[in-house]
Amino acid sequence: MKFAVDLAVCQNIGQCSFTAPEMFTLDDDGKLSFRNEATDEYVSPELTDDDADSAQSAAALCPMQAIRVD
Ligand code: SF4
Repeated sequence: MKFAVDLAVCQNIGQCSFTAPEMFTLDDDGKLSFRNEATDEYVSPELTDDDADSAQSAAALCPMQAIRVD
């Protein structure tokens, strides 16, 4: 299982960084650090079961519905 963030939809609101801070970090500009690695979509490495649960919580709480877990 992996999560993906649609960086065109994400508005850097940061809710995910509170919900799952071990996976979603913000840079000094308050933007998801994934933006340094991808432009359109960031896809995570394979998740542990615990991380998959956290990613699903972050996806459920993202106000832009920018996170997909599959
Ligand atoms: S909660 Fe959603 S919109 Fe906010 S930074 Fe995370 S992915 Fe982007």
